[in-house]
Amino acid sequence: MNAPTPKQSHLSSSAKSNELAARLRLAAEGEVLFDQGSRGRYATDASIYQIDPVGVLIPKSIDDVRAAIGLCRELEIPLLARGAGTSQCGQTVGAALVIDNSKYLNRLIEFNPEAMSATVEPGMVLDHLNAWLKPQGLWFPVDVSTAAQCTLGGMAGNNSCGSRSIAYGNMVHNVLGIDALLSDGTEALFGDERQMRGAPPRVAGIIEQLHAIALRERDEMQSMVPAVLRRVGGYNLDIFHPQSPRPYTGDGGVNLAHLLVGSEGTLAYTRQISLKLAPLPASKTLGVVNFPTFYQAMDLTRHIVKLAPCAVELVDRTMIELARGNPAFKPVIEKALIGAPEAILLVEFAGESQAEQLSKLRQLVELMGDLGLPGSVVEMTDAGAQKALWEVRKAGLNIMMSMRGDGKPVSFIEDCAVPLEHLAEYTSSLTEVFRKHGTRGTWYAHASVGTLHVRPILDMRAGGAEKMRAIAQEAAAMVRRYKGAFSGEHGDGLVRSEWVSWQFGPRLTAAFEEIKDIFDPAGIMNPGKIVRCEKMDDASLFRYQPGYQTIALKPALDWSAWNVANDPATDTTSAPGTGGDPSGGLAKAVEMCNNNGHCRKFDAGTMCPSYRITRDERHLTRGRANTLRLALSGQLGPEGLASEEMRATLDLCVSCKGCKRDCPTGVDMARMKVEFLHQWQDKHGLKFKDRLIATLPRWAPWAARLPFLFNLRDTMPGAAALSQRWLGFSAKRSLPKWRRDTFLNRAPATDDASADVVLFVDTFNNYFDSENARAAHKVLRAAGYRVHIASAAPGDADAQRPLCCGRTYLAAGLVDQAKAEARRVIEAMRPFVNRGIPVIGLEPSCLLTLRDEFLVMGLGDDARLLADNSYLFEEFLAREHKAGRLDLKLAALPEKRALLHGHCHQKAFDAVQPIQQVLALIPELQVELIESSCCGMAGSFGYEASHYEASMQMAELSLLPAIRKAAPGTLLIADGTSCRHQIADGLRSEGPRSAVHVACVLERALA
Ligand SMILES: Cc1cc2nc3c(=O)[nH]c(=O)nc-3n(C[C@H](O)[C@H](O)[C@H](O)COP(=O)(O)OP(=O)(O)OC[C@H]3O[C@@H](n4cnc5c(N)ncnc54)[C@H](O)[C@@H]3O)c2cc1C
Ligand code: SF4
Ligand code: SF4
Repeated sequence: MNAPTPKQSHLSSSAKSNELAARLRLAAEGEVLFDQGSRGRYATDASIYQIDPVGVLIPKSIDDVRAAIGLCRELEIPLLARGAGTSQCGQTVGAALVIDNSKYLNRLIEFNPEAMSATVEPGMVLDHLNAWLKPQGLWFPVDVSTAAQCTLGGMAGNNSCGSRSIAYGNMVHNVLGIDALLSDGTEALFGDERQMRGAPPRVAGIIEQLHAIALRERDEMQSMVPAVLRRVGGYNLDIFHPQSPRPYTGDGGVNLAHLLVGSEGTLAYTRQISLKLAPLPASKTLGVVNFPTFYQAMDLTRHIVKLAPCAVELVDRTMIELARGNPAFKPVIEKALIGAPEAILLVEFAGESQAEQLSKLRQLVELMGDLGLPGSVVEMTDAGAQKALWEVRKAGLNIMMSMRGDGKPVSFIEDCAVPLEHLAEYTSSLTEVFRKHGTRGTWYAHASVGTLHVRPILDMRAGGAEKMRAIAQEAAAMVRRYKGAFSGEHGDGLVRSEWVSWQFGPRLTAAFEEIKDIFDPAGIMNPGKIVRCEKMDDASLFRYQPGYQTIALKPALDWSAWNVANDPATDTTSAPGTGGDPSGGLAKAVEMCNNNGHCRKFDAGTMCPSYRITRDERHLTRGRANTLRLALSGQLGPEGLASEEMRATLDLCVSCKGCKRDCPTGVDMARMKVEFLHQWQDKHGLKFKDRLIATLPRWAPWAARLPFLFNLRDTMPGAAALSQRWLGFSAKRSLPKWRRDTFLNRAPATDDASADVVLFVDTFNNYFDSENARAAHKVLRAAGYRVHIASAAPGDADAQRPLCCGRTYLAAGLVDQAKAEARRVIEAMRPFVNRGIPVIGLEPSCLLTLRDEFLVMGLGDDARLLADNSYLFEEFLAREHKAGRLDLKLAALPEKRALLHGHCHQKAFDAVQPIQQVLALIPELQVELIESSCCGMAGSFGYEASHYEASMQMAELSLLPAIRKAAPGTLLIADGTSCRHQIADGLRSEGPRSAVHVACVLERALA
């Protein structure tokens, strides 16, 4: 049977898929997801394609995979394995049963330090392996850019290549063995063929047939397989007669695992992979070469690589300028520049001996002099400076990816590899091709191996497909002329399988089909990739097909900034609101997610706590954005945005705004959740509990008058259990304590006309943690500021009620009520901000609402003025200190060490550093920042019984363990009300530990 193409498979009867689902549920221990939402979330990867899978299996063990393969074979349903789904070519998109290995099949199985090898399951993430190996002084050196999320199974599937491939090679050069399952149920360890001599007849038969094909096609391989390091297209039949300039094996033998590497899951399922490890380089040195022209950078790379660097990476003028435009990166990039270069090359030397690297650096300087560019090298020996510069390169790409409008940088010729002597000609000719087609692209990345990344900007909804083919054809002609590889890093998938026959010719293509049939006679393994494929520009497979429409919707917030059209030829973007989006820009904001999977990372940063605890695609920023996109384009049924699927998908989003900052394209799920809740409440109404929380600022004055009554829930036996049953508040939680002595009830005298600053005391710091507000007031006064305490404007209809930022309303989707609160605040602050008087707040989520959501409520210039004048307490003090205006006398505290936890919104707004800066003013205090994601309390989230477990799991990710490790007597500092409650609740059973606001710490330190 020939492999069914995706479209044929699309016709698989629903009866068959129902049967598969039912039988999988009986046979497998793992998760079996055949619902519309789950299939929608697995219908895309980081490519331009979208195909609904038959269903999804998240196997708990290899037995689940065995069962799935058996059932798929019996029912003739295709299957495809998936790791992080970060493939750019559509490898993991297909009408198949998707097997997601990343959640459970992710263990390190064996480590052999003597042999410097490790065996892992396919779902293990590269960075996780390397973190484990670091203390052993080793690493797996195929350092792809997606290292924080991509899996080793996916890397093997794609024959991935890292920035340092010139030194270490690609996956194929670093895999020792693959333990595989074939579609007929055969299981075998593919590796050094000499060790496979006793293999069972089916496997021995495969090997024999492969030899025969290789022998037959020897001459064809010689002439058709490009002899470049970066060639990842087709099957690696040349393992029998190597064409790669770097040997596949150390001793010239044949390793059959290498045929499976790069086969994109079309030949076998990888059960385990054995990897060749390398010693971690003891030190690294960087030389940054500045070029007056882009052409020279490309032309001279071939000379630079002769110095044996381990990386030569390009950053072009566009990216330099993007970095310069960012205040954080400006000083870093400027340290690397000499004058105004058109391009820079980052040339890295690494290894055991720093002396050797310094000598190489000197040789680089001399070489550039000999090549006519004396004084063009910035020498960077400091590890910190090097790291910062590598970050800038990554960030530059991210800014480029965050382009708004329907024209997007599209990956389809992104990784053509050409020999270095042709690099300059290739890049300038291709730039000309782009211009001819009314577009442009930014060049970056792996100059060392002739694989420069470039993505022309195309609108796949309007004319993009035609341009894509035309550009691909011209690029391909050049690649052929220069004897390069059309697929030099990212594989074939849907976008490039069509080019396999172009690259390798009809004979080798037929040979590849034979190989496919030998391994997978049933044709069920990821069909339609590498062989027997669709056309790259078959628009019926696109995520944005011609005619793609979004539903008409009046959003509650202002999304017009995304509702724009862009023109790559002139590099212009139309005015906000003119992009023709019937959802007012909301859909276009959601479509900013290009599925790159960066939100699956587990390292530093906040994004995405709900994924970190669940490892579910549904509870991931990407999964949420995809579900929203499907809902907004009518692909999730008539309920759309107000569907139960949508509710469940956003349920564990804690609105931490981690994605707002960490997502390369700026997907702001917290704001999107407000929009969803607004639509949901419109249709389904608000639960009593949610109304109670949302309206807290309204009834808080009553509770403060009768604290005894309102505190009964935590003082009367059984009341907590009742509150759980009736209202859904977790009985395991204590609620914040009401008190009579609120800050505003006992507010100190307020300076009005003569005020230097306005203190905006939010609901939480007024009613519950009034000592923070008192401390802040005292510190500001001690520093000599006259403090006006914010209160409602004279004409306010509700003048007696304290001001409120509206956060609790926003958290419930009650945008109109939030706007009403915002108007009160703006009105009250207007006289002050008009005079440039800073407004200072204490609770990060409240004060930062003034700088964030207030700006998208349609409140005009007053909102902008207020935002520009609003500061967190510590931001204001840090600003004053920097300007030399802060006159605060502080003395040492008894505690000498402090642990600091930043609120998520502080992290999202780069507002953690100011806390460290003001704490540094306290003599002798050593402050350590906890590398934490969200604390898990997130407003009312953690108080809800349905979220209690998730909330505690988030706290246990890093926050609570870090506090447990702290020495006794360490001061705990957290500005967020929720964070402080989470710390107290989370550690209550281990003895009292409480965190304090930075204002209280400074107050105690007042001399
Ligand atoms: C922003 C960005 C940057 C990138 N940078 C690089 C880079 O520097 N270098 C590079 O090489 N690539 C890069 N890529 C491409 C991609 O990240 C890599 O190819 C990565 O290794 C894929 O890993 P994954 O876990 O996401 O695999 P997936 O995309 O999930 O799968 C990749 C392939 O492997 C197959 N597969 C997965 N598991 C198995 C299994 N158990 N058995 C059989 N087949 C399996 C899949 O079917 C698929 O064909 C980049 C992608 C993006 C979006
Ligand atoms: S949400 Fe952002 S980080 Fe996540 S996949 Fe989409 S674009 Fe990437
Ligand atoms: S707001 Fe936080 S929890 Fe929600 S998607 Fe973004 S990072 Fe994840």
